[in-house]
Amino acid sequence: MKIILATHNSSKVKEISQLMSELDLEIVSLDDIGITEDVVEDGDTFAANALKKARFAADQVSEWVMADDSGMCIDALDGQPGIHSARWAGDDVSDRAKAEFTLVKMENVPVGERGASFNTVAALIAPDGSEHLFEGILRGEIMTELRGPIRPHLPYDCLFKPEGYDQTYAQMSPDEKCRISHRGIAFNKLKKYLREQTLNQNK
Ligand code: IMP
Repeated sequence: MKIILATHNSSKVKEISQLMSELDLEIVSLDDIGITEDVVEDGDTFAANALKKARFAADQVSEWVMADDSGMCIDALDGQPGIHSARWAGDDVSDRAKAEFTLVKMENVPVGERGASFNTVAALIAPDGSEHLFEGILRGEIMTELRGPIRPHLPYDCLFKPEGYDQTYAQMSPDEKCRISHRGIAFNKLKKYLREQTLNQNK
């Protein structure tokens, strides 16, 4: 089965391909099929933006499509940046600048009050047009300094330390991050749904 992953973010392609690797799927990104345009992410929720990305691709192909929208919601900042995580530090800024901007926003927030969640909504659209949403939320805290390498297109990995762990996402191996992450939780639900679909088709 072929499934189109509606993103231009190469790091998301890697993570999601790894997450889906146990299924017999061919995952193809927008770049792979020559779609270069970007969707304007102007929805009010992660779900609305994930659906927008998936619908944009589904309008142009006849296969299954999936997409995700993600962001960090910081308690001390009333849930910011949330759905604005991509652009709250400005347009066209580097990954490091996004992480450093977040540190500055948090500079007066003491340790112990730096709780946050990392959220993903994954959207799946079937060839018959039916739409399905899967949510993943992981609690953690925001570090007072960058810890670990800046991962391309995953700027907040070096700031977010999941609850119960000593390492930030960026200090974990990609495998370990995927096992526990917000994206891992959402795509495990999506995977379970796809497995059930395949089983039903084979009955
Ligand atoms: P979007 O889901 O592509 O809209 O992502 C929103 C912002 O969060 C972008 O700046 C992404 O690079 C960043 N982002 C998305 N997922 C992750 C992640 O797993 N770790 C760190 N940053 C992420």
